[in-house]
Amino acid sequence: MTLKERYSSIINYFRTNVPIAETELHYTNPFELLVAVILSAQCTDKRINQVTPKLFKDFPTAESLAASDSDTIFNYIRSVSYPNNKAKHLVNMANMLLKDYHSNIPSEINELVKLPGVGRKTANVVASVIYHKPAMAVDTHVFRVSNRLGLTKAKTPLQSEQQLIKHIPKQYVATAHHWLILHGRYTCLARQPKCETCALTSWCQYFQTKIINKNAPHSLSSKKLIMDKSTTINKKETIKKVSNTKETKAKTEASVKKTTIQKEPKKIAQKAENKFVAHSTSIKIGNKAPDFSAKNQNGETISLNDFKGKNIVLYFYPKDNTPGCTLEACSLKDEYQYLTKQNYIVLGVSADDEKMHKKFAEKYELPFSLLADTNLTIIKAYDVWGKKQFMGKIFDGIIRTTFIIDEKGTISHIITDVKTKEHGKQILGL
Ligand code: SF4
Repeated sequence: MTLKERYSSIINYFRTNVPIAETELHYTNPFELLVAVILSAQCTDKRINQVTPKLFKDFPTAESLAASDSDTIFNYIRSVSYPNNKAKHLVNMANMLLKDYHSNIPSEINELVKLPGVGRKTANVVASVIYHKPAMAVDTHVFRVSNRLGLTKAKTPLQSEQQLIKHIPKQYVATAHHWLILHGRYTCLARQPKCETCALTSWCQYFQTKIINKNAPHSLSSKKLIMDKSTTINKKETIKKVSNTKETKAKTEASVKKTTIQKEPKKIAQKAENKFVAHSTSIKIGNKAPDFSAKNQNGETISLNDFKGKNIVLYFYPKDNTPGCTLEACSLKDEYQYLTKQNYIVLGVSADDEKMHKKFAEKYELPFSLLADTNLTIIKAYDVWGKKQFMGKIFDGIIRTTFIIDEKGTISHIITDVKTKEHGKQILGL
C-alpha cells in the first residue's frame, strides 16, 4: 500500500463513518475556547469542562479576566494540572489580548503563539476551530495514532504536523485533527490499542506489521510477546519462569511464542469481525410511507400529502454542515435536474432547526427542502433513530438512510448504505 492510498483510505473511512468530529471542550465563543484550550494542556477535557462553567460565568471576557489576579483564578482551576502556572498564563494572556489585540483573538498562528500560555498546539486548535484554517494541532493522541497508522514517521510533534499537512487535503485538515484525537482517546489507546474493535486494521501499519505478521514468528521478540497484555500468559508468572534457568527460560519463551502465535491472530481476527452493528429501520419496501408534516428552511409547511403523484427522495441525515451531510446534499444538488426529470421531489430531514437548515441550504445553494424535525417525529416514524458508533462510543442518533416513495405513497426503495459523495447517482441508478 502506498502512502497516498493509506491516507486516502483512512480519510475516506473517517469521512463516511465519523462525519461529525468536534472538540469535546465546552465553549460558546472564541475567548472561552482559547481559555479552555490553555487549561487543557496535559489535562483531560472532562476535567476542564468541570471547571470552566464557573470560570466563564465570573470572567466572561478578556476585560474581566485581566482585572482579576492569578491567586483568584487559581481557586477556580485548582483541580486542573499545573494550576499555578495556568492561572498566571490566563491573567497575562487576557492582559495582552486587551493591550495588543483590542480583546480580539488573533487568527494567525504567529500572533497566537505570542500570547502567554499559548504554544503551537493551542494556536493550531484556535486557528482551525475558530477560524477554520487548515491547521493541524498535534497532541499526544494525534502524534501516536498518526505514527501507528503509518500516516507519519515522526519523532517530534512538529514533524508530525508537517507530514500530516502535506498529505491531508486542505478541506479535511481541521476535521482530521479531531478524527485522530478521538480515535486515540477511545480506540487507539496509548498502552493497549483496541485493535480488536478498530475499523482501521486494514490500513494500519502497526496492526499489519505487529499483529498480522505474527504469522512470521520471528517478527516479534519474545520480550514483546511476554509484555503483550492481550496474551493469555500471565506476565508475572512468565517473567518468574524466565528467570529460573537457561533451559526453563528457553522452554518458557518457546511456550509463550507458541501460545501467542497460535492463538492471538485468530482471537484478534475474530474480535475484529465482531463489529458494532448500527440500528437499521424496521420499515420495509412495500409499506405505506408514514405521513409527515414539518417546516422547511423557509418556514413553509411541507407534508407528504403535497406530493401525490410524485416520486419522493426522503433522505435522513445526521447534521447540517458536517462533512458527510454536506457531500450528500451537494451530490443530490448536482443530480437535481436529472432527479426532477424523473419526477422526483427531494426532501432532506434532520433534527436541526429551520435556522440551521436555512444557513446550510443557502451556503450550498440547495434547491430542495430540508425539513426541521427538531422533536424527532418524522425521524422516529421512519425508525431511523438508534444506536450509532462514534470513535468507539455508542450513542443514539440519526442513522443515515434514504427512502424512495413512489407516486402511490408506497416505499419502493430503502438505501441504508448511502454513498454520500455520489448519492444522487446512487438514486438515479436504482
Ligand atoms: S488497528 Fe490498533 S494500532 Fe492501528 S489504529 Fe487501530 S487501534 Fe490503533
